[in-house]
Amino acid sequence: MQTVSVVVPCFNEQAVLPELFKRLSAAAATWGMDYEVICVDDGSQDETWKLLKQQHAADSRWCGLSFARNFGHQTAVSAGLSHAKGDAVVIIDADLQDPPEEVTRLLAKWREGFEVVFATRKRRLDPLPKRVLAWGFYRVLAKLTPLPMARDAGDFCLLDKKVVAVMKALPERSRYLRGLRTWCGFRQASVEYDRAERAAGKPQYTFRKSFKLAMDGLFSFSAMPLRLATYLGLWVSGFAFLGAVFTFAQKVFSAEFAKIGLAPDPGFPTIVISILFLGGVQLICLGILGEYIGRIYEEVKDRPLWILRDNTGISPNPPSNPKSVAGKP
Ligand code: UDP
Ligand code: MG
Repeated sequence: MQTVSVVVPCFNEQAVLPELFKRLSAAAATWGMDYEVICVDDGSQDETWKLLKQQHAADSRWCGLSFARNFGHQTAVSAGLSHAKGDAVVIIDADLQDPPEEVTRLLAKWREGFEVVFATRKRRLDPLPKRVLAWGFYRVLAKLTPLPMARDAGDFCLLDKKVVAVMKALPERSRYLRGLRTWCGFRQASVEYDRAERAAGKPQYTFRKSFKLAMDGLFSFSAMPLRLATYLGLWVSGFAFLGAVFTFAQKVFSAEFAKIGLAPDPGFPTIVISILFLGGVQLICLGILGEYIGRIYEEVKDRPLWILRDNTGISPNPPSNPKSVAGKP
């Protein structure tokens, strides 16, 4: 029989886990397939890991990895993916915002032959500022990258084992999984769903984490900001050149300019404004360069993506991950 692996990143999710165990097990019983659930405890400070161990004792299909610290959602999912053995792998949030009952529809598409089936949010119940920012971000990213990035699709998706193998082999550190999944290609399909409210507990994605994710998405999948720096530089130098021509003409034909009310003045404010403006533009460009250089630095350090503290029901070393140092507890 074919197997489905379900990867669940969990960070301080003790409030929601009992409900997750129940609802996901009930949904999985209807899939007509063997299944394993890999919960990745992303360095939680609450009882998350204890609950995961208890769940493994109660049902050996549930297993868990525990990180030595909080490495972030995308890294937790990457760790789960690298341990998943299923023919299809489902990525789902722990807080039940992605209803486990919808997995049936993802599986149906997979059986039709699609290798990547992602869920697109028809309706979001997140706070308004988050919804507006997410809406804007997906559209900006879609414009800036040559890849056909899906809009309003989160990490809730199903991946065929062929795609998982490709994703596992990608060595990069900043893992914007939605982008990597698009980059892989294969036959992709989308299924619309209503994103529910968090079943219990508090959101673990702070504004800072969401912003970092957005920056990872942007800078990992687009070189456009670099070009933007060049364009900005060109425009500003263009204006500066015109300004210089104008000032020169003003000096030479000062009488004529005075007649139309454009007599030259000492121009102190002009100097201050242009210095500030140029300084600002230079800082923006430096910042953009810094984003890429910082990422290159992260890559060359070549540290493991995550460090395991504990594991339950699963080997700490992923089967075929070249970076399997990451798996040593
Ligand atoms: N999460 C994680 N590490 C983090 C933050 C979040 O593993 O540093 C997990 C969290 O437990 C949940 C999922 O990522 O399963 C989505 O987080 P959350 O619900 O807080 O984000 P939101 O749904 O608000 O975007
Ligand atoms: Mg959530």
